[in-house]
Amino acid sequence: MTALRPDGTSIDKEALLRKYRQERDKRLRPDGNRQYQRLAGQDPYTTRVPRPPRTDHRTVVFIGGGLAGLINGARLKEAGVDDVRILDKGGDFGGAWYWNRYPGAQCDTASFIYMPLLEETGHMPTEKYAHAPEILEHCQRIGKQYGLYDDALFHTEVKNLEWDGSRSRWIIRTDRGDEMTAQFVGMGIGPLHVAKLPGIPGIADFAGHWFHTSRWDYDYTGGDHLGAPMHRLADKRVAIIGTGATAVQCVPHLARACRELYVFQRTPSSVDVRGNRPTDPEWFATIATPGWQQRWMENWAANVLGGTVHEDLVLDNWSAAARRTRSRVAALAPEHRTPAAMAAAWDDSDFEKMEEIRARVDSVVTDRETARKLKAWYRQFCKRPCFHDEYLQAYNRPNTHLVDTDGQGVTRITPRGVVAGGDEYEVDCIIYASGFEVGTPFTPRAGFDMTGRDGVRLSAHWSAGMRTLHGIHVHGFPNVFIAQGPQGANMLFNFPHDLAESARTIAAVIKHAREGGFAEVEATRKAEDDWVSMLLSGPALTWPSPDCTPGYYNYEGQDPGPWGRLRVGFPWGPRAFFSYIDRWRSSGTFDGLEFRLSFFPLSVRGISSRMWQVSGTLADSRRAASSRRTVLGDSSAATQISSSPPSTGGSTTAPRTPGMSIAAASISRVLTLAPLCLNMSSRRPSKYR
Ligand SMILES: Cc1cc2nc3c(=O)[nH]c(=O)nc-3n(C[C@H](O)[C@H](O)[C@H](O)COP(=O)(O)OP(=O)(O)OC[C@H]3O[C@@H](n4cnc5c(N)ncnc54)[C@H](O)[C@@H]3O)c2cc1C
Repeated sequence: MTALRPDGTSIDKEALLRKYRQERDKRLRPDGNRQYQRLAGQDPYTTRVPRPPRTDHRTVVFIGGGLAGLINGARLKEAGVDDVRILDKGGDFGGAWYWNRYPGAQCDTASFIYMPLLEETGHMPTEKYAHAPEILEHCQRIGKQYGLYDDALFHTEVKNLEWDGSRSRWIIRTDRGDEMTAQFVGMGIGPLHVAKLPGIPGIADFAGHWFHTSRWDYDYTGGDHLGAPMHRLADKRVAIIGTGATAVQCVPHLARACRELYVFQRTPSSVDVRGNRPTDPEWFATIATPGWQQRWMENWAANVLGGTVHEDLVLDNWSAAARRTRSRVAALAPEHRTPAAMAAAWDDSDFEKMEEIRARVDSVVTDRETARKLKAWYRQFCKRPCFHDEYLQAYNRPNTHLVDTDGQGVTRITPRGVVAGGDEYEVDCIIYASGFEVGTPFTPRAGFDMTGRDGVRLSAHWSAGMRTLHGIHVHGFPNVFIAQGPQGANMLFNFPHDLAESARTIAAVIKHAREGGFAEVEATRKAEDDWVSMLLSGPALTWPSPDCTPGYYNYEGQDPGPWGRLRVGFPWGPRAFFSYIDRWRSSGTFDGLEFRLSFFPLSVRGISSRMWQVSGTLADSRRAASSRRTVLGDSSAATQISSSPPSTGGSTTAPRTPGMSIAAASISRVLTLAPLCLNMSSRRPSKYR
């Protein structure tokens, strides 16, 4: 098959792949994620107010007041749980949107599917891709509408969780000296909440001003996060380090405000057309019919991650990318739709798209040398794809200088400025657009460990990688629920869809426990083991992409280790997971969970709230205890995972279904893979349908 450039000439695919590999190899470094250091420091946005420590009790405490906390809080209130308390390190609700107030911050997936609970709140996003202030305000709207402010504790960091089996409740300790208790604990600590800095030598020596983009210092820059111009930068020389999704959004604003702006680039982002526009209220009234947002989310997931829909309701940059690939695959004659041919069709589509994006750089950026350096040499989904209509244009301003480091990065920070390529750039301020910790183990990222039943710590239970049932429930940790992506849908591109589904599950389980008078609910050891084995038997719809340039999507090009290898999703794709979990939830039997009446080992398995059949016995409980010991010792499951062969990046598990082997290659092929998986649903065990 031929792949064509926008000017109609054909692409030399082999030469292009060679170039991709060369560019990747330049950037590979052995320290992977260890090249970064954590950002320490305070909340610059809200004053921390002293308060006495709390020692009270709540039915549910939820850790994290981002979208996860808000959606869960709302669904729990709807389920009749009046006393839900949300805790957050930040000074308000919003999570990522509380912390990220840099100029130009906005969502990348369409607001209509990204901003949660639009139907419930009646809010109409003002733009196709809403800006951060509107999303933050929407978070506050949800907090108010569902009464979540009444009992929230902000500027409160959870430091430790301990299960008190004698009272069937969790003890929650915080940096405020709190020692409160809760029957149930939810956790939504966020995929991107720990800000990181590059580990550049001399970083502490800089004598000027500096900050991270997620702690924007408007006192220094002037202006505000609502868009007022940053007038205090007019006489400043500013360096911004990093050219990922954040920098792409804030560079145009800095370029307008600074005397001189130096943008230090290790790897260029791919920057496609954004096409943002205001929402037409008349049009919105026509689409906002009952059930619309759920329909839109499902339609988007079907378009982007595999399905048979013919209509694209959302029409955003992601669904456009998926449509392009799918049409290429659909152009194959049915008898030629082998996995290899489909992967090749995907590649052609990607080669063409990336040529188009590179040609866009030439058409926008006037200086040829700058344009050359701004071209991204990798597949579009190797790194977070960016969409912007002012970023490339910023380099046409005389005050905006791209300092490309040819993949090597900044080599040193001095008291005066930044050194790259042997030259020192003197600046007044350094802004680190260096992103967040991604893919690191849960416990250090959360900032707390949990001590569950029998004194087992979560860090020990997960020492060979994450183990859950459905990505939510953990054996040995009763009444705890995790709201995040891995081991469930792994719906990476529109996170709130995932959060909305897990909130439904969590609310349903807690409601069931309360209606049945159960003190405890916990995943059985067998259910957790079966779930993890099933996940590992699949094609690993996960992030590692060995042929990609290093970045947070692929653990900086290093072996992801056991933690990373278990960050997989339901093998048949997010949509299949959503329909599976919907059936699981509504069955009323909650297979794999054990509901217990009290801390005594009387267990009730798979019953509806009306049928109190006590099926567990003391012997059951002894058997369970002995199997628990196996987990903590050299359990076969744990050993299997930790001794799996070192990965060069892709799935370490040999795919069992031959047709799925292409999946291991790259996240970017997820778009092609998911429909493939769905077509193979006949091979899915009935248990997981
Ligand atoms: C600028 C930006 C743009 C994004 N755009 C998109 C997009 O377009 N589409 C998309 O799908 N995703 C996007 N994301 C990803 C985004 O993280 C998720 O969409 C979503 O906001 C995650 O919500 P969350 O509640 O799970 O986590 P978060 O919003 O990160 O909230 C987690 C909260 O937990 C708190 N917390 C953590 N640990 C503790 C502790 N120990 N004690 C107390 N509190 C704690 C944190 O302070 C934080 O407020 C974007 C992220 C950023 C930063």
